[in-house]
Amino acid sequence: MTKGDGLRWKGIEYSVRENSRARRVILRVSSANRLDVVVPRRFNRRRLPEIFQAHRDWIQRELQKVQDQPSPAAPRQIELNAIGERWRVEYRGGIDVRIHVEEKTGNILAVARDAGDFEAIAADLTGWLHRKAHAHLAPWLRQVSLETGISFKKITVRGQATRWASCSKLQNISLNRSLLYLPPPLVRHVFLHELCHIKRLDHSPDFWRLLQDMEPNCRALETEVKQADRYVPSWVRMARPR
Ligand SMILES: [Zn+2]
Repeated sequence: MTKGDGLRWKGIEYSVRENSRARRVILRVSSANRLDVVVPRRFNRRRLPEIFQAHRDWIQRELQKVQDQPSPAAPRQIELNAIGERWRVEYRGGIDVRIHVEEKTGNILAVARDAGDFEAIAADLTGWLHRKAHAHLAPWLRQVSLETGISFKKITVRGQATRWASCSKLQNISLNRSLLYLPPPLVRHVFLHELCHIKRLDHSPDFWRLLQDMEPNCRALETEVKQADRYVPSWVRMARPR
């Protein structure tokens, strides 16, 4: 399922949210170098490109401002809400080591890098996050699959920019490693959503009926998941995994 809407205009990623109190379209450039758009209720979204075009100079300036900001600091703490783990990160320098991230007792994550080496740190921690996602999210999804009686073929873990998860025609499910940051009920909801896609690949009324049977509160959870990017720290979104 998508984070927000996963839309693009001229290569710029944007998300649209409806707010019944909004009187007009509001544009904001988020720290993740994305355009957040708030529209009034029943607004015709096909008009958006025209609005973007009218404000293109402002949009470019704001995007540039975000890009010119200094790199975020290396994280000192990592909270993986999905699995209830909190790690204190310690930077210990070091060049000639093979393993750059090590889990130590007392929930200390030892990173063999200088704290200022942001890009390398972000890449290393992303690798670690990826392994954690495999180890924890994959068995969890299998368990929910057993519970619901809906089986799938394969799980892959990725770092999608605009999706929390997806399901293919071949019945393979792909999970975003950033799900580790979300509270457990939201992760479970993403799992249920994708499992329902095994039966229905679209978002038809049949799909929603199926999901609602499993999770009566599914509409509210859906809204929460669409806004769940706020649980993911900016270094995760900026990291370029190696
Ligand atoms: Zn979906």
